[in-house]
Amino acid sequence: MNKNEAKKEIKKLREQINYHNYKYYVENNPVVSDYEYDKLLKKLEKLELEYPDLITPDSPTQRVGEEPLEGFKTVEHKVPMLSLANTYNYDELRDFDDRVKKYVLDVEYVVEPKIDGAGVALLYENGVLVRGATRGDGVRGDDITQNLKTIHSIPLRLYGDVLKNVEVRGEVYMSLSGFKKYNRKQSEKEGIVFANPRNAAAGSLRQLDSRIVAKRPLDNFIYFVSYNDKDLKTHENALDALKKAGFRTNPLAKKVKDIEEAINYCKKLEDLRESLDYEVDGAVIKVNSLAQHKILGRTSKNPRWAISYKFTAKQSTTRLNDIAIQVGRTGTLTPVAILEPVEVGGVTVSRATLHNFDELKRKDIRIGDTVLIERSGDVIPQVVKSIKEKRKGVEKRKIIPKKCPVCGTEVVRAEGEVAVRCPNKNCSARLKWRIRYFASRDAMDIDHLGESTIDKLLEEGLVDNIADLYFLKKEDILKLGGFKEKSAQNLFDSIEKSKKQDLSRLIYSLGIRHVGKYAAQLLAAKYNSIDELAKASSEELKEVYGLGEKSADAIATFFATDENIQLIDKLKEIGVKTKEERKKDLPLQGKKFVFTGGLVSLTRPEASDLVKQMGGIVASSVGKDIDYVVVGESPGSKYEKAKKLNLNIISEDEFKKLVS
Ligand SMILES: [Zn+2]
Repeated sequence: MNKNEAKKEIKKLREQINYHNYKYYVENNPVVSDYEYDKLLKKLEKLELEYPDLITPDSPTQRVGEEPLEGFKTVEHKVPMLSLANTYNYDELRDFDDRVKKYVLDVEYVVEPKIDGAGVALLYENGVLVRGATRGDGVRGDDITQNLKTIHSIPLRLYGDVLKNVEVRGEVYMSLSGFKKYNRKQSEKEGIVFANPRNAAAGSLRQLDSRIVAKRPLDNFIYFVSYNDKDLKTHENALDALKKAGFRTNPLAKKVKDIEEAINYCKKLEDLRESLDYEVDGAVIKVNSLAQHKILGRTSKNPRWAISYKFTAKQSTTRLNDIAIQVGRTGTLTPVAILEPVEVGGVTVSRATLHNFDELKRKDIRIGDTVLIERSGDVIPQVVKSIKEKRKGVEKRKIIPKKCPVCGTEVVRAEGEVAVRCPNKNCSARLKWRIRYFASRDAMDIDHLGESTIDKLLEEGLVDNIADLYFLKKEDILKLGGFKEKSAQNLFDSIEKSKKQDLSRLIYSLGIRHVGKYAAQLLAAKYNSIDELAKASSEELKEVYGLGEKSADAIATFFATDENIQLIDKLKEIGVKTKEERKKDLPLQGKKFVFTGGLVSLTRPEASDLVKQMGGIVASSVGKDIDYVVVGESPGSKYEKAKKLNLNIISEDEFKKLVS
């Protein structure tokens, strides 16, 4: 291929990749597999490597991040980014409508959700992204082009001719699921966690190393054309044009005919809020006609043609009464904020996580402080910061305890690690967690064994390990206090019943690291008994299809430990089922199922049990190896992913036929 041919081929490949990129990241509706997409990208990379002078900044290969910067350049926005005036009740929205109507008549509005992320301005020249900037002070912001290019849903080159030379505004955010996953990974590594998705988005965009940004789960919605060399009539037209040009726009934006309809839609958006995978802190109401925008103009601070309506805050301040220490399942000591109860976005909060002692120190949070509490989605409430201005000088720092608050053993802190641990394997805090885990619904499912009962069992010395549960007599339970004949019998029966749980539950309930529900099912499908599993080497385990290396190693380590073998022996001795008698050729032998959405005629656990009884396996996430995806009402992202992967998707009725 000569250079001219290469040039043509490169152009063709880029067009194809941009198209598939758009289908995947913006429309959520890919038309090729990941594999085919990667093949195109590899081909382009190879050609560009051969002809480096043909690389342009808008090439899809330029999304992986570049060398770190020394600092950000300050740039001026083409049009100042004004902030919107806030309103907190519907009457204030009606006042806004009255003010608008002093200037213009026949007003229509567009209402859209206000995404809680980081505002950005993107500048395109001749359809190519030339600059992306933070909001900054509204007039000048930081040039973060390198970082923004790593977000796949931001087009590097625009489609068609609808928009060519434009500046657009939008919000970069981290999805709630991405945020939770990111923080969980960081906590495992004992790294820095973000207080909320907004900080996560803003903090990521301020990274000087765009290669780090490329690894963060960021996305964006573009909601406004701030400068344009062509004429558009309405904001609604502008949103259409943005979409046609390849931007990701929010599907919930809606045109309404008057302020009352706008108010109704605000209510609807607030109801929807908890079901979205991104944080929304309000709604924005904009006058639809762009000619009217010009007439309305602006005040010194805000445009007169738009206003934001704030939803009930998910933040509150309250007094931090104490910092308690929790000892986790692996012995890690975690500080927990004990708060003066306060309502945060409709929920009363009296405890909040402080993550670890380094966070506590970094944020300088003290007992007696007034603190800012925040809730996002179903994430555990967090202490964002302490309000230092409110200190009276009597607030106290919490010192890292030298001894485990539960068993009194001296704590350890490995060099360079954030986590402080109680090294005592028999610490009752750890034992308590193990028992709770063992008895939990997905494990041995022992009803009536609540936290306070476990506490009492440990206090009385009746239980020293999980097998001891099965040696309890009804008389022992009655002596615990709080139990009557009937309730003691119930607990006793539940414990007895759990002896018959299937092998996958038993494996899961042992709490082996890196062995979740799915891995436990894979193992139970492969091995007929716990003894067979115990004999398997880590090499052999690595051959189990779908099982990760970490899990294989953890299982081998678990069964190489004497105490664990003794535990298994004790369980066998007392009659816990550790073998699976297999009926040959079960109809769904080895078939993998995923459920998404609500089922109508049966519960999830019931459905899972049906699958397992027929030899099938229930997975929690969608992958290429899944045989059936059962879709109920209001399915989630798993459904989208299943469609993308072209999996076998079945309804609840079809599922019931399959298992009947
Ligand atoms: Zn301890």
